[in-house]
Amino acid sequence: MTAPHTAIRVSEIFGPTIQGEGMLIGLPTVFVRTGGCDYRCSWCDSLYAVDSRFRHEWEMMSTDALWQKVVALSGGRPVMVSLSGGNPAIQPLGALLDRGHRDGYRFALETQGSVARNWFAELDVLVLSPKPPSSEMATDWAAFDACVEAARGRPQIALKLVVFDDTDYAYARDAAARYPRLPVYLQPGNHTPPRPGDENAPIDMNGVMKRMEWLVEEVTRDRWFDARVLPQLHVLLWGNKRGV
Ligand code: SF4
Repeated sequence: MTAPHTAIRVSEIFGPTIQGEGMLIGLPTVFVRTGGCDYRCSWCDSLYAVDSRFRHEWEMMSTDALWQKVVALSGGRPVMVSLSGGNPAIQPLGALLDRGHRDGYRFALETQGSVARNWFAELDVLVLSPKPPSSEMATDWAAFDACVEAARGRPQIALKLVVFDDTDYAYARDAAARYPRLPVYLQPGNHTPPRPGDENAPIDMNGVMKRMEWLVEEVTRDRWFDARVLPQLHVLLWGNKRGV
């Protein structure tokens, strides 16, 4: 039997598909979405992996069992594995990184930066996505600093910021100024996220694209030439659909 502290709480594993956001956009990947999050963002688009009401859908998996599933999905060919959530940083993933690296796989993890882990140093890519004011969450910058510090060395680190409005944009500028050496990726927020179990809920693509246009105008007006503005590719392709 797997010791509880080594079991990983998994919401879903799927792929290969492509990474839809940020610095790895377009890259083939297998997703491992863990269950549970220490945040409750107002516009969270993966509540089924956050809210404990959906915990009956989550599975406690050993590192071995999880890894076998990733290998099966990828046909045994090394691919980028995207660790997402929920907040994957609250799961014990260090052994998984060792296991996958031995097989030639790479790992990218995305987190809001609220919990630092020493195994961040073993990642290949760490995407830190602090949540702006529209999320109704408050950023603990000391915890965020600890995440950046924990990942010094091997991983590429990037900032990814979701922007809904002027206040979020100002927050994004502040966050980028705090970490001038980190590349910055901005994306327009989706104000029509799916409700759990309703993945066919229509998405206001027009509204999202208008926000993207506005974001491009802001960035260029401010001569913020280090920032990259990207849409969510999977949203463009599949709307709110889950598991793609
Ligand atoms: S941090 Fe991410 S997963 Fe957690 S509630 Fe916010 S958007 Fe959802």
